[in-house]
Formats: sequence, C-alpha cells, structure tokens
Amino acid sequence: MKFHILFLLLISTKSYGWVHISQLKPKLPAYSSNDTIYFYWDGVAPSITGKDNIFNGDYQYAPDSELMYQILRQAVTRWNEVEASYLNMQVEIDTDVVSDSTDSLNAIVTSSLESESIAAYALPRYLGDDNEGADKHLIHDCDITISSGTVSANDLYYTLIHEIGHCVGLGHPHSNYGALMGYSRLSRMPSLGADDIAGISYIYPAEKLDVENFKVFCSTVSGASPYSFILFILPLFFSLCRKKED
Ligand SMILES: [Zn+2]
Repeated sequence: MKFHILFLLLISTKSYGWVHISQLKPKLPAYSSNDTIYFYWDGVAPSITGKDNIFNGDYQYAPDSELMYQILRQAVTRWNEVEASYLNMQVEIDTDVVSDSTDSLNAIVTSSLESESIAAYALPRYLGDDNEGADKHLIHDCDITISSGTVSANDLYYTLIHEIGHCVGLGHPHSNYGALMGYSRLSRMPSLGADDIAGISYIYPAEKLDVENFKVFCSTVSGASPYSFILFILPLFFSLCRKKED
C-alpha cells in the first residue's frame, strides 16, 4: 500500500502551469477600472498565403492588409474573451507608428528580420528600465515585429496570439504541451490552452465572474491529460482487486 501512496503522490505533482515572462512578474498597465490597452499597427502586412483556410474563407480574395487587420483583431480577442480576466486589448491602425521601446506605444510593425527562422518577436519594456524608482513590473511599451516574408494565414494568426501573450506578461512554459505560450504544443490551433487562460486570469483577475465560465476555468487549470487520470486511478483499482482476492 505504501508504494501505491508514493505512486499517487508522484502522479499528482504532474501538473504544468504557466510562467511569467520575467522574474519581475510584469503586467501591462491595465486595471479593472481602466482595463483597455491599445496596440497600434503600422498597416504593413507580410505576404499571406492560405487565405481560404481561415475565417471560413471570408477573406480569400481580400488584400493582405485587410486580412492582417482581421487576424490582429481576432488575435487580441482570443485573450480578451477570457472571462476571468479583465484585460481588454484593442488594435488600431497608425501608419506613423514605429518600433521604439521608449515611446510608450505598443507598436505592431512588419519588417524584414535577419533570421529567416524567426516569424515574429515581442519586446516588452518595463517602466523601471526607463524611470528610476518607477514601478518595475509595469510593461509600458511592448512592440511586436513580424517578419515581412511569406507566411500562411493560420501561422500568422497563431504567432500573433503568442506574441501578444508575451506583451500580456506570459513566458514560455517549456514542458507544457497544451499551452499556446509553450514551444512544445502539439497542435497549432489558434485557441488558448487551459494554462494560458490561467495565466492571464491570474495577472488580470476579473472582480466579477460568470459562475458558469468560472466552473470551466477551474476544472481545466491543471493541464493534466486524460492519460494521467488513468495512471491516477490504476493503483486504486489494483488495491481494490487485491482486497477482493484477500
Ligand atoms: Zn515566444
């Protein structure tokens, strides 16, 4: 029986979670009373392929920039729609915006990147970096740069949700196969994993929760797979069988 208890303990620690992007546990300067953060897109889009594979093909004949704007709006919506978080992000077009980590503007720009293997990157800048004595954990500027190379619509969508996640304050949970913020996710579905949802909800906790949605949020936080659930009940099953034999 001792072995069974040890086994149960080992299995029950097999949950993954999410990580902050840095030890400062940074967040955007959004508050439940003032919850909106703006991102400004420079209006330049990469060359987008596979337009018929996204948004029911509604944009298959649209110019790259029109689809890009839609992808950007949907990418922030994936985060905004988390019920347990109050954070509300909006995307506006500003053709004058540039990547400048000191202008306190969250810019989204398209540019040729040195490495072809990088699709995009986010650069969160902390208030304490620029103002001595300031609240170190506030991200007062987060610029996202997207490669101007050719990209499929679905990859671009996935990448943007991921990069916006960094601006939100989330890092890479390396051993998490379910998180969109992780590198090892098995699917490229443009939907948040349970731990992505847990992360944004922890950093920007909504005061009022819809009870039904809260139930869903609670029940899926651990990231444990159905497989680990089977491992969890197996020892119990065997010990019950043994007792019967006795
Ligand atoms: Zn990343």
